[in-house]
Amino acid sequence: MESAELRELYQTVILDHYKKPRNFGRPEGADREAEGRNPLCGDHFKVYAKLDGDRVAAVGFEGSGCAISTASASLMTQLVAGRSREEAHAIFTRFHDLVTGSGDVDPASVGKLEVLAGVREFPARVKCATLAWHALEAALDRPGESVSTE
Ligand code: ZN
Repeated sequence: MESAELRELYQTVILDHYKKPRNFGRPEGADREAEGRNPLCGDHFKVYAKLDGDRVAAVGFEGSGCAISTASASLMTQLVAGRSREEAHAIFTRFHDLVTGSGDVDPASVGKLEVLAGVREFPARVKCATLAWHALEAALDRPGESVSTE
């Protein structure tokens, strides 16, 4: 595919998740939560998780943000559900490396998050793209904590 076409496809996926965020709201039985704020852009989310032993049974989020932060949160809830905490952490590490341009990450290794790969050309948006993920990490490891990109 031409890169212009690919960009357009990515835009479509991002806008779709922005307009219709998946797993919006607190999942039933959620036992973990953390807040994330990105004052630079005004993104503010609360991320919920339901743990079943070491497995992330469900993830949801509430709040509001720009298209990038909302789409990333929405995609995250789909990707992480059903994974172990370790797997969830590994996905975030790869995604973080992909959007910050550090390391040689195969975009295909982050699944649908690949649509956010273009963010690496806009350093200020990296905080938008990773906000929900930082909040999820806090919810899993340090529940109740609030994370800020500042
Ligand atoms: Zn943002």
